Amino acid sequence: MATYVLTLLFLTAAGIAAAVSVTGWRRRHQAPGYGAMAVLGAGITQWAVVDAASMQFRDPGIVLALLGSAFIGVCAVVASWHCFSYTTIDRGWRLTRRHLTWLAIEPALCLLAVATNPWHHQFFAGAEPTGFDGAYVAIFGPLFWLHTTYCYVLLGIALTRVIRGWARGASRYRGYLIAVIISMPSAIFNAIGLSLHGKLIDLTVLGFAVSTPIMYVMMTRFSLPGLAPVAHERVFQKIGDAVVVVDAGGRVLNLNPAADRLLHSLLPEAPSSYVGATLRVLFGAETGIKLVLDADVDVDHTIQNVAGSGHDLEVRVSALQDRAGRSIGWALVARDITERSRQRRELERVNNQLREQLHTIELLRADLAEQAVRDHLTGLHNRRYLMNALAAAVQHASNAGTPLALALVDLDHFKRVNDEYGHAAGDAVLVELARTLSRALGDGEVVARHGGEEFVLLLPGATPAEAVARLDALRQTVRDNALIFGGATIVTTFSAGVTVYTGPESPATLLQAADDALYAAKQGGRDRVVLAAAALPAA
Ligand code: GH3
Ligand code: MG
Ligand code: MG
Repeated sequence: MATYVLTLLFLTAAGIAAAVSVTGWRRRHQAPGYGAMAVLGAGITQWAVVDAASMQFRDPGIVLALLGSAFIGVCAVVASWHCFSYTTIDRGWRLTRRHLTWLAIEPALCLLAVATNPWHHQFFAGAEPTGFDGAYVAIFGPLFWLHTTYCYVLLGIALTRVIRGWARGASRYRGYLIAVIISMPSAIFNAIGLSLHGKLIDLTVLGFAVSTPIMYVMMTRFSLPGLAPVAHERVFQKIGDAVVVVDAGGRVLNLNPAADRLLHSLLPEAPSSYVGATLRVLFGAETGIKLVLDADVDVDHTIQNVAGSGHDLEVRVSALQDRAGRSIGWALVARDITERSRQRRELERVNNQLREQLHTIELLRADLAEQAVRDHLTGLHNRRYLMNALAAAVQHASNAGTPLALALVDLDHFKRVNDEYGHAAGDAVLVELARTLSRALGDGEVVARHGGEEFVLLLPGATPAEAVARLDALRQTVRDNALIFGGATIVTTFSAGVTVYTGPESPATLLQAADDALYAAKQGGRDRVVLAAAALPAA
């Protein structure tokens, strides 16, 4: 009866383990943990079925043969649980060929020992009936204990790693829970069986009867890859940024492959291993690079042309503290920013070039603008400028209530100069007159070439009398200073019409008044200055 119940329990465990195995196998491409689960489930199934079968026989030879074959499952269970536990602490873990070879050595030897047991009896010393319905159990030999020790060592290594991972803060990942759940009941039942020295039927499978349903539910309810974290070590190894960890004394404790590559590319004569080296060695003694290592603050550095390598580095120094807040060193995260620096410099160069071009354009524009308001021959401002200046001067006189005089100057019989001495002589006379008029001007006063041989003077602040006096002085200067040109002495005179702003006049009206006065001057015999009628003091 007792064996009947036990057989049923064993077969139930075998059935569920088979379901775990099939599910794991189907999902084996999703995560390495599933593959390990598949082997684990298959191992348990085989172990449980063979153990159940062994209970049905009362022939010690058959029982030993069956129990011996169960070690195929035992070996598979131990190795796969070992692998599975690794996948629960690191999602990126993969079974390498080397690891597989190592894991296969002991099972091969164990199965060899079991297969050859009838000749040496060192694995099983024999079989004896139990009080358990007369079912036979094996009497363990020294090779069995060797194998068992190996299994527990292997499981112990894996369990230590799992517990370490758990303690390091990845406890929120349920993969750990699975690993512990799978191992604990079976390990306990196995240990009980062993402690009884084979006086009881192997009950390890009973432990699996407890753990396999939980395994199955966890596997089907949750996604296995989501149950395991990616090991920090793997991130450290794979990250593209160079990471160097130094202790409180500035000695290198650890560096990742990216850091190793970076340092070797920057410093070709670098030592083969940097671990234990000081920061001075790290960056070359002569480089003069100073990193601020402050226990409390994180500092960013930009190091240009590291050790004359032509490379620029950006280094972030982060202070590391223990739980009590004491400084235990620094983590240096370095990034090669040579390309970024080059791009920045290039950008700056292009920017400067653009700025220079803009400046040139601005100068050209200003030059063009100046040319647009200048007269080519005399260099004086032209009529366009005059009209603006006149409008502004009128506006100012109107606002401030200050006087403003305007004089229109016209050379007398200029046509004759051209006719007698040539056009070039005429031009020279115009240039000379422009110079004379310009020299006579004070601040804020304007002289412009109005057109042909006509010039306009704006004299803000000048009363009619002052304006007439100044124009008359100019007239005398021009008449008294003959121009020597091409051997000829050219005497020129001018007539001028003067007007003043008295109130409401527009620029056009002012010009017209000056023109009328000029006309009067011409009519009056030329070489004279006439004040416009509107500007004359009331009689
Ligand atoms: P008026 O005393 O009545 O002013 O007689 P005018 O000969 O000075 O007057 P008119 O208007 O008959 O002649 C002006 C001359 O000025 C005609 C033109 O050839 C000359 N002229 C105008 N602009 C220039 C110039 O840029 N260079 C030279 N050389 N001559 C010019
Ligand atoms: Mg004229
Ligand atoms: Mg003239």
